[in-house]
Amino acid sequence: MGSTGSVGRSTLDVVSQCDNISVFALSAYRNSELLLSQCLQYEPQYAVLVDPEQHQHFKRLLAESGCKTEFLDTEDALELIAAHEHVDVVMAAIVGAAGLASGLAAVSAGKRLLLANKESLIMSGKLLIDAAKQNNADIIPIDSEHNAIFQCLAETRSGLSVTNGPFVDKLVLTASGGPFLNTSKEGLAKVTPEQACAHPKWSMGQKISVDSATLMNKGLELIEASFLFDLPGAAIDIVVHPQSIVHSMVYYRDGSVLAQLANPDMRVPIAYGLAFPDRMASGAQVLDLTRQPALEFSEPDVDRFPCINLGRAALEAGGTAPAVLNAANEIAVAAFLSNRLEFQQIPAMIEAVLSKTPCEPAASLDIIRGADSAARIAANKLI
Ligand code: NAD
Ligand code: MG
Repeated sequence: MGSTGSVGRSTLDVVSQCDNISVFALSAYRNSELLLSQCLQYEPQYAVLVDPEQHQHFKRLLAESGCKTEFLDTEDALELIAAHEHVDVVMAAIVGAAGLASGLAAVSAGKRLLLANKESLIMSGKLLIDAAKQNNADIIPIDSEHNAIFQCLAETRSGLSVTNGPFVDKLVLTASGGPFLNTSKEGLAKVTPEQACAHPKWSMGQKISVDSATLMNKGLELIEASFLFDLPGAAIDIVVHPQSIVHSMVYYRDGSVLAQLANPDMRVPIAYGLAFPDRMASGAQVLDLTRQPALEFSEPDVDRFPCINLGRAALEAGGTAPAVLNAANEIAVAAFLSNRLEFQQIPAMIEAVLSKTPCEPAASLDIIRGADSAARIAANKLI
């Protein structure tokens, strides 16, 4: 899901290095040309292109190329492929709330879900986790920090279910600090979308690049970690680590700290998820610590980057608050990328939407979707 994006392309790259994975279906939003070339290379049975404006064009491209892939253009096409009986593993690499329905369909059908699309978990919280539990579906986090923690929790794992409670003191999420780690408040006021998308360590889609620049990515990842590993926000710390070599850590009761290290390359967590519980080659460069500049760690500056605390506040408020935070952030980031909102107005906007939108228990998908749209309307009005 989301094969034309940054994580999607990295996933196909890992798949290319392995003989025993075949691609059953690919999906994208509107990039017909890239989706076609992926279909020609990986020969999936089905392809889904979501944007109706591109349907005719894509159909024509498929027909002209002689590609045997079948184009699915129904409204529920993403859910259909995610839950298809021939599928074992679903890579959830759609960006934003748009990935929720297909992720839920996958776990409801008992598939292993490789979860890159953090927004769907942040929105739906326990609903996605519970649906996975009820249907014996594994969720393997692909977000590098959560994948690191998942690996470091192997000690306390019985089968796939993690029993954190008695052994784990806290989780520490590392943050690169983004492109503006050392930029003053005055400097932040002048940031352009282009500067925000130029991440020093990771090459990613635009939305997550902006999230990394505001550090909302860590605010979201805090919530993601709390839901995935069933720990309260108070047991999850954030540490800035600009080299992005230590991907996160687990502090155990006895004073042991386990960390996962690798070069910053998404193919590492992707290969882990695809091969689990085995290991496979990812194509990533091997880490050479003797040539690596010193590894630094420091506390994040929540004054310059208030989005971290907005994430914490939404997690503590619970219920639909994380869905509201996520929706307001998606709208704010889109507005920033199209020059309708300044960089430093992003946190202020999200805070305003959070305080305006009533929070209720996230008891059903309808309630969550309601909170998501209310927050989008409120955010758009503010812009
Ligand atoms: P991207 O923008 O590069 O790709 C997004 C993909 O989703 C594309 O294939 C696009 O066609 C598809 N898409 C977009 N809108 C859609 C819609 N409405 N319906 C269906 N498909 C749609 O994003 P990315 O950087 O690959 O990130 C994907 C997800 O993975 C995000 O949730 C992000 O937070 C998460 N993630 C990414 C990275 C990374 O290194 N890029 C790291 C950790 C987590
Ligand atoms: Mg991450």
